[in-house]
Amino acid sequence: MAFPIKICVVCSEEFELKPDKPGFANRCPECSAEESTGPKTKRHMDADERKSASEANDARRQAMRDLLYRKDS
Ligand SMILES: [Zn+2]
Repeated sequence: MAFPIKICVVCSEEFELKPDKPGFANRCPECSAEESTGPKTKRHMDADERKSASEANDARRQAMRDLLYRKDS
């Protein structure tokens, strides 16, 4: 099955526009992938969010453990 050939607006390479291609319709898969990774600042924020989320999980786990130990004794 043939897909329409498009010219990427970022790198000017030809690419097949597949219906399930993620990202922009006028960007090749490579440039779409670069876009979805995002700038470094955003990735940094995500890492911080993940860190605080894992800290919250640790705190919750610790609280649960305290409750269980209190129950046992
Ligand atoms: Zn491209």
